Amino acid sequence: MATRTQIFREILREYDSLRTEKASELRERKAMIFGRLPRLAEIEREMSLLGTKTARMVLQGTIDTKDIMEQLKEGQKILECERGEILAAHHMSPEMLEIEYTCPKCQDTGYNGTEKCICLKRRLMDKLYDQSNVRDMIQVENFDNFDFSMYSAVQSKEEGISAKGNAEKLYRRALGFVEDFGNGANLLIYGGTGLGKTFLCNCIAKDLLEKGHTVLYLTAGQLFRKLEEQRFHRDDDEEEAKEWDQELLEAELLIIDDLGTEFSTIFTASELFRIINDRKLAKKAVVISTNLGPTELMSQYSDRVTSRFFGEFEQMKFFGEDIRIIKKYQK
Ligand SMILES: [Zn+2]
Repeated sequence: MATRTQIFREILREYDSLRTEKASELRERKAMIFGRLPRLAEIEREMSLLGTKTARMVLQGTIDTKDIMEQLKEGQKILECERGEILAAHHMSPEMLEIEYTCPKCQDTGYNGTEKCICLKRRLMDKLYDQSNVRDMIQVENFDNFDFSMYSAVQSKEEGISAKGNAEKLYRRALGFVEDFGNGANLLIYGGTGLGKTFLCNCIAKDLLEKGHTVLYLTAGQLFRKLEEQRFHRDDDEEEAKEWDQELLEAELLIIDDLGTEFSTIFTASELFRIINDRKLAKKAVVISTNLGPTELMSQYSDRVTSRFFGEFEQMKFFGEDIRIIKKYQK
C-alpha cells in the first residue's frame, strides 16, 4: 500500500499536470481566437511591451516611479477597454483569454498561501481512504431519490406512527442537519437492515460535499482496519500514523456506516470512543449508522461508555419491513 507521503506527492503531481493542461488549453484557445481577431494578438503584445518598458524605466530611474506606474495603468486601461469591446462585439467574455482553473480559489495549486485548499483536503481524503466508491454511490442515493413508497403507511401500534411517516420525519431531520451543519449536532441512525440508514448517510454526504464541506465516509469495518494497521505500525512510521489520525479529526463530518457488524475488540472500541471524543472537543460532527439498538450497543460497548458517548448523539430510529426485500419481490 502506498504511504501517505507517496499519496501526497502523487496528488501534487496531479496538480502540476492539471495546470500544464489548463495552460495548453488556453494557448490553443488563444491561437484560435487570435486567428480570427488578429487585433487581440497585437493588444496582448502591446500590453506585455508596456510592462517591460515600464520595468526598464523604473530600473533606469529616469522619471519618478509613481509617474511611471500611473502611465502604465493608464496605458493598460486603454488596451483592456479596446480588447473588451472587440470581445463583446464577437459575443465573447474576457475570461476566454484567461486560464480556466478547476479550483479558482487556489488556481489549481492546492494551496492558499501556506494553507491547504479545500480541494486538496478533499483529494487527500478521497485517496487516503479510497472514497471513489462513495462518490459513485451518492450519484444514485441522494435526497432527490429518497423513495417513501417503499415504506408501509399503516400505523405501527408499538411506534405510534407509520414506517412511512417515520421515514419522512427522519428525512426532514437529515435535511435540517445539512442546513444547520456545524451547530454541534451528531446523529445516530439506527434500525434493522435495509431500511434506509445508509441511504440517508449518503444523502447527507452528498449535500455537504456539494456545499463545500469535507466529509470522510467510512464503514466501521474500514475504520477499524485502519486503526489496527496504525496500532502495529513500525516505529519509523510514527509520523505517518500521527498524520492519519489528524485526517480523522480534520474532516468536518465523519460518517461511520454500519457500526456493529464488524468484529470489534477492546482496542477498536476504545479507539472509536477516543475518536468520537477528540472530534467532540474539536467541535466536529459525527454521523453513525448502526443495526444495533441502544440496548445492544450497551451490551457490546459497556453501559457507562455507551450512555456517555451515545448520549451526545441525536437518535434517529428506522423501523418497518426490509425495503430491499420488498423492492426485490416487486421486480
Ligand atoms: Zn483549490
